[in-house]
Amino acid sequence: MEPRDLSDHSVYRAGRGIEEVARDLGLDPDDLVKLSSNENVLGPSPKAAAAIREHADSVHLYPKSSHTDLIERLADDWNVASEQVWLANGGDGVLDCLSRALIRPGERVLVPRPGFAYYAMSARYHHGEVATYCLSKADDFVQTADRVLDAYDGERIVAVTSPHNPTGSVMPLDEVERLADETGEDTLILVDEAYGEFADVESAVDLVRERDDVAVLRTFSKAYGLAGMRLGYGLVPEDWADAYARIHTPFDTGELTCRAGLAALDDDEHIEKTVAMVEDAREYLYENLDARTWESQGNFVLAEVGDSEGGSPAGERSQTASGEAVTDAAQREGIIVRDCSSFGLPECIRITCGTPEQMERAVEVLNEVIDA
Ligand SMILES: *Cc1c(COP(=O)(O)O)cnc(C)c1O
Repeated sequence: MEPRDLSDHSVYRAGRGIEEVARDLGLDPDDLVKLSSNENVLGPSPKAAAAIREHADSVHLYPKSSHTDLIERLADDWNVASEQVWLANGGDGVLDCLSRALIRPGERVLVPRPGFAYYAMSARYHHGEVATYCLSKADDFVQTADRVLDAYDGERIVAVTSPHNPTGSVMPLDEVERLADETGEDTLILVDEAYGEFADVESAVDLVRERDDVAVLRTFSKAYGLAGMRLGYGLVPEDWADAYARIHTPFDTGELTCRAGLAALDDDEHIEKTVAMVEDAREYLYENLDARTWESQGNFVLAEVGDSEGGSPAGERSQTASGEAVTDAAQREGIIVRDCSSFGLPECIRITCGTPEQMERAVEVLNEVIDA
């Protein structure tokens, strides 16, 4: 026997892990600085780590009250009904829940290019199809309703990433609202706010409260430093929020995950420290990297390190480095950044914001490689 036709499905290429790279290069993992997956370099909230230890002895039980408590806590924080909070296995799990609840076989989703790969993957897993709208480098990846509407053709879900990965641009709330107004009744605008804590724009949750066609995605993987726990949630319109009970796997968010999330929500100090560090790091990168950068509202900065034309007119190979070449060379010096080929920007790299020491070392290595 065989699985169904999966030839259309791509494989998610994550930023490489420290152990993996260290093994390949014969380096000590402690000598590597990983700035490739937008994790929190300060680690998890200490309160979350303590909660994980504290609850380790109760993992023989299914997560019941912790799941309910976390949903109620988030509903309270966002001023929505508890049904409107869809807890899931990371933000990626939220995308799966929405695909399952919304996509009828053959229906399309509209996703940004460059953009986050999992929108398309999740749609295809759920028998959907994919169309793209372009954010243009020439316009500094500006996000407006018109840009999306130019490509819009009645898709079931339209993904808006704000702040956008990997460029750091945002779509202002009035543009999100206009997009929702001008798309069909049967279209959901999904605003992915995975990096919302780092941005100084308002969350689209206001629109979730007011209308039936906007949903928001948030995650604990980035600012909260809990990527390894796999915790995210959707905030969805009240009108159809009860669909969650019919599509999510029973007990899909683990006991320790829920406990960690609850504790992290009480740790304002960790978030404040993280956001301040990220703001400093962004400025440092804009000012010191020998490459074009874009202003970012996320915990990362996109930098153009190669030649976007990809070669000289005579057809010889360009002497200018590509994102991949810079990534490989930096990695040999212990700095792991993200090559943006998989996002459709082969001439760019994405650098996760870290501590002042990490940023100094990263810039030193990257500048050497870029100028070589
Ligand atoms: C990281 C990320 C997510 C979600 O990641 P999870 O670890 O699954 O929560 C969602 N959208 C974007 C754009 C991201 O960068």
